[in-house]
This record gives sequence, structure tokens and C-alpha cells, in this order.
Amino acid sequence: GKVLVSGCNGYLAVWVVKQLLEDGYAVRGTVRRDSAIPYLKNLFQSYGDRFEAVIVPDITKEGAFDEAVKGVDAIEHTASPFHLRADDPQEIIGPAVAGTLGVLRSALALANDTVRRVVITSSCSAVLTEPSDRGVARTFSEADWNEFAVDDVAAHGRDAPAVQKYHASKTLAERAAWEFMQEHKGDAKFDVVALNPPYVYGPWLNDVDKPEQLGTSMAMFYDVVVKGNRSPGVLASEGQSWVDVRDVAVAHSRALSREEAGGERIIISSGPWVWDDFSNAAHKTDPRIPAGSSSVDPNKVLYYMLFDNSKSRRLLGLEYRDIEDCTRECVAQVKASGWL
Ligand code: NDP
Repeated sequence: GKVLVSGCNGYLAVWVVKQLLEDGYAVRGTVRRDSAIPYLKNLFQSYGDRFEAVIVPDITKEGAFDEAVKGVDAIEHTASPFHLRADDPQEIIGPAVAGTLGVLRSALALANDTVRRVVITSSCSAVLTEPSDRGVARTFSEADWNEFAVDDVAAHGRDAPAVQKYHASKTLAERAAWEFMQEHKGDAKFDVVALNPPYVYGPWLNDVDKPEQLGTSMAMFYDVVVKGNRSPGVLASEGQSWVDVRDVAVAHSRALSREEAGGERIIISSGPWVWDDFSNAAHKTDPRIPAGSSSVDPNKVLYYMLFDNSKSRRLLGLEYRDIEDCTRECVAQVKASGWL
């Protein structure tokens, strides 16, 4: 079958495209700009005409995906702003929600007879609640929704922390998808799967010439782990949960092929981390990379935010890469790029 992948030049999406091609699908990817296409064509050259790229200049425009959805059997909607620079919350919430609804509307209007499933790349941002006390651990599951971020942004608007604006965008976009499916129970012939990864790390396949071009999550990894930019204390306590980008790609492919996944939201998480864990793993790989803070007793680190990944193991048969594997690949690529 043919799969539409929106935002197919992104960090996560390029891996999704590669996984789909490896698994035998044909892929039609959307990008915003012409200039993104040659790199992708070259990267996926060996798959011949099973990869094509089309331009959707503005995902917020009505009918933006009308042409792109025609004739596809499934959709992976990954395009969504992921940055922490938004002033006006709508700058980030607008495209997240409008893009998600736009894909679903176009699928219903123009591809209802072919599209069987729409996978939405949501996030653990749509699941978690930022704790007021990081001294207490909490495990989240698919039953949890990030109401906190939505309320925070509603109450404080531009003054809300940037990360809450992003979290709200993911919560509102995923919720809009489920509401759409509820409204169209009678007429939509496709179902939806939401995938919810926490921080995504791992090697990159997208078009990156210099560290500044890395996506938001890998830019943090590079800055903190490789360059050792950190304030004292940060290493010990900062963290959350994470997953390797290659596992997220496998999840996107299996979300299409596993019938039982239909109608489900699924957390895609390897496990918790603090920066120390990545720093120590990186230091072992290459001693030029600074180790984690030696003053911290690793046995006393409290992993305060965990996600139950049992549903992903059950429904998608996922097995997760560990911190050593992920870090080794990242460091190798950093070295090969001459950035150490
Ligand atoms: P990237 O920034 O690498 O990719 C984002 C993609 O979305 C790009 O193709 C980008 O296009 C497109 N996009 C961004 N803003 C817009 C917009 N306003 N209109 C149209 N297209 C837009 O991010 P990631 O690969 O990290 O993220 C991909 C998805 O995964 C997102 O939905 C994100 O929320 C989700 N996610 C990411 C996590 C992470 O840690 N990386 C964790 C959990 C979820 P362009 O290149 O033209 O800007």
C-alpha cells in the first residue's frame, strides 16, 4: 500500500519513511518547501519510485491536504511545530490543531474509500502533568491527559512557559483528532491511532550540516551531553523519559499493520533518564566527552516521570533500545560529522 507521511523531512519522520520503505510500503511524503526535496530523493534513491515527495506549503489552510491524500491507503501525520520559541501560543497550537484536523478532513472528503488508518504522532506531552515536586515519582499511562498545560496556557497566554505552549499544542491536537473521529463515527471508514513518545533521541537521517540544524530534542542532547553545557545540579536532576528514534519509526510502521492498534493511543517509551545517564554512557564511548557529575550517587537518583509502555509491547510487539545503544550511535555520528 501507499502511505502519506506529512512533514517527511523532520528528524522523526525521515526515520518513519525509511522504516515504511524497508517494510515494503510506498511513501508519499509532504514537505513545506521545494528545497527539502533533493536531499530526500537522494537519501531514498535505492527505493526507486516507491518514494515521492509533494509540497504542502501551509498545513493550516483549508483543504491543504486535499491533493496529497488522494489514493493513499494510510496516513502518518507527523508535521507539527516542535520548538520552544513561541511567544503567542497560537503560533504553535494553531498549526498543530489545524494540521491534524486538516489531514482528517481531507482523508474523509477525498480518500475515505482508500484510507484505512490515520496515525497521529502525538507525544507524552499530551499525557504528562509537570509535577510541582520532582521528589515524588509518578508513572503515567494512556488514561492520563495533560490538562495542566492547556489550563496554564489558557490562564497565562503569552506569559505561559514555552514548554507548556508546546505541551498544550500536542494535547489539543490529539484531542481534536479523537473528537473528529467521534463526530464522524458514522461516515469515516478509517480509524485513528495516536502514538505518544516522550523525548526522542538517537542518530539523525534528516538534512543536517551543522549542530544548529538538529531538531529540538537532538539539539538539547548535543548541547548538554556532547558539549557538556550544563549548570551544576542540572545533570543530576534534569530528565524525564525517552525513546530511541528508530524504535519510534518501528512503532509508526507497526501501528499500520497491527489491526488491534486501531482506535488506541499508545505510549512509546523506553524508560526514564537523567542527563547523567547519557553523559556517563557517552564518556564511556569517548573519554573526550565529559562524564556526568561525580558528586551524584547514581543509586539515589529519583526518576520522577515514568510512562507505562506495556500497551506498546502488547499491541505493537515493541522492544526498546537502551541508553548505551542510543548514545553509542549518537556519539559515532557526532564524530563522523567532525563535531567533537
Ligand atoms: P522536526 O522539527 O525535526 O520536524 C517537524 C516537522 O514538522 C518538519 O517536517 C517541519 O517542517 C514540520 N512543521 C513544523 N511546523 C510546521 C508548520 N507550522 N507547518 C507545517 N509543517 C510544520 O521535529 P521532530 O521530528 O522532533 O518532531 C516530529 C513530530 O514528533 C512532531 O509532531 C512532534 O511534536 C513529535 N514529537 C517529537 C518528540 C521529540 O523529542 N523529537 C517527542 C514527542 C513527539 P519544516 O522542516 O518545513 O519546518
